[in-house]
Amino acid sequence: MATRSLVTGGAGFLGSHLCQSLLERGDEVICLDNLFTSRMETIESLIAHERFSFIEHDVTEPYAVESDVIYNLACPAAPGHYQYDPIYTLKISVLGALHALELAKQTGATVVHASTSEVYGDPQVHPQPEEYRGCVNPIGLRACYDEGKRAAETLMFDYNRMHNVDIRVARIFNTYGPHMHPFDGRVVSNFIRQALAGDALTVFGDGEQSRSFCFVSDLVRGLVRMGECSDAMGPINLGNPKEFTMLELANLVLELTSSDSTLEHMSLPADDPMQRQPIIDRAKAVLDWSPEVELRDGLAETIAWFSSIDVDEWTPPTPNWAGGLSAT
Ligand code: NAD
Ligand code: UDP
Repeated sequence: MATRSLVTGGAGFLGSHLCQSLLERGDEVICLDNLFTSRMETIESLIAHERFSFIEHDVTEPYAVESDVIYNLACPAAPGHYQYDPIYTLKISVLGALHALELAKQTGATVVHASTSEVYGDPQVHPQPEEYRGCVNPIGLRACYDEGKRAAETLMFDYNRMHNVDIRVARIFNTYGPHMHPFDGRVVSNFIRQALAGDALTVFGDGEQSRSFCFVSDLVRGLVRMGECSDAMGPINLGNPKEFTMLELANLVLELTSSDSTLEHMSLPADDPMQRQPIIDRAKAVLDWSPEVELRDGLAETIAWFSSIDVDEWTPPTPNWAGGLSAT
């Protein structure tokens, strides 16, 4: 019998790829989303599929959907969008996790939870192993997301200890690829959109801060593996350990788009982590997983997708997408 998979946040960037991958595996897929940071067009190609269905629902309210696995992805993930209404973000993270876990407690479903490298905050340990407990400012602008995700992890492990709910916690590091919202304000989408339009690339700070970018197909393969592995409770870091500065990323995007855009330095947002790089030994050992797509190749695929869409048809999900920051 086909696995029945519920994907909250399934219309978003990662969720849409996950739904596609689960359908290809033969699952029945239910996508539950309130389209806060996404649009139906992203899952247009899936709607016609006989094993796919869509439920419009806000995860801050309880829901009852029978499934074998709940992939809990619903949550704004781009800094501008999660900071737009921080109280709502905290509710989405905490109540969304609570409702997934309550449902799993009743139905016996496995919960695969999308946590984040943001639980490490602005890390004082580099690179980051899962044992590192992080350095998060609990009252800063990013706290609604970081602390929300930390509390969601706490709920996952307490439901496991108290109610024996089968959980899998993935700590996802920066991921990019086709289906990113062109106005999510994240660095990859900003740089590509700007380079293709001939606009200046907005480099925040001196651009020496680093991130490790994972291509979406690698990430989704890891998430699906976590759903399949009974000993993958985690937390498990999922990300590409190859680290780049934002200046290196900007120059690579300029090269791959053959753009003559300039770089414009803007002020660095508050609490912006200076570096981030996953140790993925646990993912290798438990899941036999490691990323395969080089940044250059993944960016080329992402640029091709951005070139194929009409950016003017996309409305920013919130007015708070990056670009409004002051130049230094
Ligand atoms: P996204 O914004 O593209 O997708 C999030 C989806 O959740 C959207 O479809 C949105 O409409 C939906 N959503 C938001 N609030 C909701 C609510 N209250 N009820 C129902 N649906 C709601 O972001 P993404 O990059 O695809 O991220 C997906 C998940 O992965 C998030 O939980 C995020 O925290 C996590 N994550 C992503 C990254 C990354 O680099 N993309 C890194 C770490 C963690
Ligand atoms: N960033 C940048 N220009 C932009 C958007 C982001 O230089 O137009 C920087 C940002 O300050 C951060 C890094 O890129 O240091 C990654 O930002 P993103 O919002 O993509 O993800 P996160 O900060 O959540 O890792």
